[in-house]
Amino acid sequence: MKSEQPDKIKVGASRIIGFDRQLRERRNLYKQGGSSDYDIGRYELLDYEFRDGGKKRVYKNVNFSVFVDDYCNADCKFCVAQLRYHHRNELYRKGHITDPDKYLMRLDEILQKVRPLDPSVSLTGGEPTLSPLLTEVLKLIDKYGFRKRTITTNGSGLLTVQDNDTVLNNLIRYHWDHLNISRVSPDDRINKAIMRYSADSTYCTMEMLREILAACRNSTLKHRLSCLLLKECVHDVAGIRQYVDVMSEYGADNFIFRELMDYDKLAVNTEKTDYCRQNKIRLYDIWHQFQEYPEFVPYLNLLGYYYYVEIYKYRNMTVASETADMNIQNLEKSAHPDVVYEMIFHTSGHLTGSWVETEEMLDRYEPK
Ligand code: SF4
Repeated sequence: MKSEQPDKIKVGASRIIGFDRQLRERRNLYKQGGSSDYDIGRYELLDYEFRDGGKKRVYKNVNFSVFVDDYCNADCKFCVAQLRYHHRNELYRKGHITDPDKYLMRLDEILQKVRPLDPSVSLTGGEPTLSPLLTEVLKLIDKYGFRKRTITTNGSGLLTVQDNDTVLNNLIRYHWDHLNISRVSPDDRINKAIMRYSADSTYCTMEMLREILAACRNSTLKHRLSCLLLKECVHDVAGIRQYVDVMSEYGADNFIFRELMDYDKLAVNTEKTDYCRQNKIRLYDIWHQFQEYPEFVPYLNLLGYYYYVEIYKYRNMTVASETADMNIQNLEKSAHPDVVYEMIFHTSGHLTGSWVETEEMLDRYEPK
């Protein structure tokens, strides 16, 4: 049996965290129908009045996600953006502010409103690096000086030029902190096939990834490679180790492996929900497998309101793993309807507390 990392890590002003195996077991019991292991009351909540949402309590460490666009050049069978809608028995159909100036004006208005809450900011999509508006969005967010800025991308447009420089350099110029790149495999052929890129689209090859990671190393932009665990691809600890070993040759040293989300069994039955059912790998099983691989040293684990994360150190690299459960998210939200856990700005211009643009309306866009 290997020894566990004894160090405790201080987060925020006073919270000390380390690796506590009971946290994993408690979350697993909750997922199996047991009682809740999460208490939002333990965290600081800020009173705030939204124009349409009324008086709310906002989670102090709240994240504000911005949909730059919902177009994507891939068509992953596990696309979370789409599954979040299917989970609510809705089709992925969203409104759009089609005039770029109006979109930016509305985003500016919402940024001013949420700034006092001091959220972290994430850019999402669709594929945000392919949006012609991306650099303007980066400038706008930089103007307000938000803390901890993250972009999640499949990498496709990072080396394309916008506003006289590459998107990657613009992320660095406008003080982005984290770059999350999604890839299911280091093998371009497998990655392309599973993520189903359209044949004529821009694609981030492994050689381009090498260039991107080198630029990150020379800047304050921190990378993380994000890999979804799938039966047909990376599906065990040996596969995780191989993924990390290969990617490290290209300059990567920070990884997250994600379990396919659990969703409502009664959700709209599409190809995507079927694929997820058939390809699901349970991290709970993988975490037990890690005990047979002493090179992976437990570092810390964290519980969120619908996600749970374990982080390991491997050859001086960071390997995180995350489960998220939409059923738990719904239970938690319905138990605390006055709490805002996250804020999302949609392409329609609405600000909501949900990834579904018609739910938990906080500030409705009304075109003038
Ligand atoms: S790359 Fe991301 S947004 Fe695009 S289809 Fe895949 S999961 Fe969805």
